[in-house]
Amino acid sequence: MAEQIKAVKGMNDILPPDSARWEWLEDKVRALMRRYGYQNIRTPIVEPTPLFVRGLGEVTDIVEKEMYSFVDSMNGDALSLRPENTAGVVRATVEHSLLYEGGKRLFYIGPMFRHERPQKGRYRQFHQVGAEALGFAGPDVDAELILMCASLWEDLGLKLGEDVRLELNSLGQIEERQAHRAALIAYLEAHADALDEDARRRLHSNPLRILDTKNPALQPIVEAAPKLLDFLGEASLKHLEAVRAVLDAAGIAYRINPRLVRGMDYYNLTVFEWVTERLGSQGTVCGGGRYDTLIEQLGGKPAPAVGWGLGIERLLLLVEEAGARPPVPVPDVYAVVPDAAALPQLMVTLQALRAAGVSVLQHPLGKEGAASMKSQFKKADGSGARYALVFGASELAQGQVALKPLRGEGEQRLLPLGEVAAWAGTLLGAA
Ligand code: ATP
Ligand code: MG
Repeated sequence: MAEQIKAVKGMNDILPPDSARWEWLEDKVRALMRRYGYQNIRTPIVEPTPLFVRGLGEVTDIVEKEMYSFVDSMNGDALSLRPENTAGVVRATVEHSLLYEGGKRLFYIGPMFRHERPQKGRYRQFHQVGAEALGFAGPDVDAELILMCASLWEDLGLKLGEDVRLELNSLGQIEERQAHRAALIAYLEAHADALDEDARRRLHSNPLRILDTKNPALQPIVEAAPKLLDFLGEASLKHLEAVRAVLDAAGIAYRINPRLVRGMDYYNLTVFEWVTERLGSQGTVCGGGRYDTLIEQLGGKPAPAVGWGLGIERLLLLVEEAGARPPVPVPDVYAVVPDAAALPQLMVTLQALRAAGVSVLQHPLGKEGAASMKSQFKKADGSGARYALVFGASELAQGQVALKPLRGEGEQRLLPLGEVAAWAGTLLGAA
C-alpha cells in the first residue's frame, strides 16, 4: 500500500457528524446577522504580508511569531495566510470604496491561520466569525455589536454570566495612551528587576501588552500599575459611559477590566472580550473593539470602525461543555429498494419528494443489485428517518408504495404514487 499522507499538524478535518454542529452554528450566525442588518463579505485567505505588518503592528504576537508568511516563488511576492480578517476587510473596504455612500455593516465566516502550539481550543488553522461596522463613530454601534454577541449566546443555549461573561475597557485615544504609556514605562522601569524576559523586551516597544501577561509572577506588579482609565479625557469617558448605559439597560452584566488591552495595535476606545471559565487557558471566546485609525493607516480616507471576532472551535467546545445539545439532522425518509428493476420509477418519485423539500436517503445498490430487506431496514432504522418508503415491484405495478413509520407513529400502509406529493406536504407542515 502507498504511504499515507496526514493533515498538517494543528489543522483539522471537520467530519460528519460533527460538521452538523458547525452548520448549526453557522445557520444561527447567518440568522443573527440578518436580524442586525450585517451583510456577508468574503475576502481572500492569502493577502500581501505588509497588510498584516502595517495593520496589526510589528511587535504583536501574531506578526512577530504566528504568521504563515512565504514568498511566492513564481514572482517574489511576500504573502501571508490571513491570521485574522479585520485587516483584510479594511483593505477590501478601501480598495472598493465601500464607504462611499456611508457606513457598512459586514460579517464573515472563515478559516484563519496562526503558527501556535496546538492544544485544546488552539489550532494552526482555526475558524472565526467576525462582524465589522465601518464608518460609524458613535457608541451605539459598539453597544449593538456587544448585544449581537449576547443574542448569539442565547441562540446557542449558553447562559450569560454563567457560561460566558463580558469584560469591557476603554483604550482611549492616542494622546491619552501616550500619557499613560510614559507613566507606565516609568513605573515598570522602577520594577525592572522583577520583570520577565518577555516584559523587559516589550518595556519600550509595547509596554501596554505587558499588562496582558499570563505570567502569574508578574501579577502583583501589573495589578498596581498606572491604569489607562485614569488617563482618559472627557470625550473618551463619555463614549464608554454611553456603551455602559445601553448594556445596563439591556441587563447585560460586565466587568470593567482596566488591563484588557487586546492583542492588536489597532484598537482605541471600546475594547471587550467574552470569556469563559470552562475552557482553561483558552478562555477568550470572542474579542473586539473600536479601530478608528486603521482605515487611514491602510491608505483609506479616515473613517471610524468597530468590530469583533470569535473562534468557532472554542465556541463549539463551550457549547458542548455547557451541555447545550444541537439537534442532529436526520432524513425524513429512507427509501428501501427491494428490486433494482424498480429503480427508474422509484428515483423519479424520490426526485419529486425532494423537490417538495423532503429529505430522502436512498439505499444504494451493491455489485449484486439490491441488498436484503433485513439489512436495508437496519440501515433505515439507524438513519434516524421517520419513515421508510418501500418500493416493492408488486405495489409499484398497482401504482402504490408502502409507507412504514419507523418511529412508532401508526401502522404501515399503502400510499398511491399520485398522493405522495400531498403526503410530503403534510409531513413538512407537521415538522
Ligand atoms: P488568545 O489570547 O487565546 O491567543 P487572541 O487574543 O490571540 O486569543 P484574537 O486574535 O482576538 O485572539 O481572535 C479572536 C478569537 O479567535 C479568540 O477569542 C479565539 O476564540 C479565537 N482564536 C484565536 N487564536 C486561535 C487559535 N490559534 N485557535 C483557535 N481559536 C483561536
Ligand atoms: Mg493569540
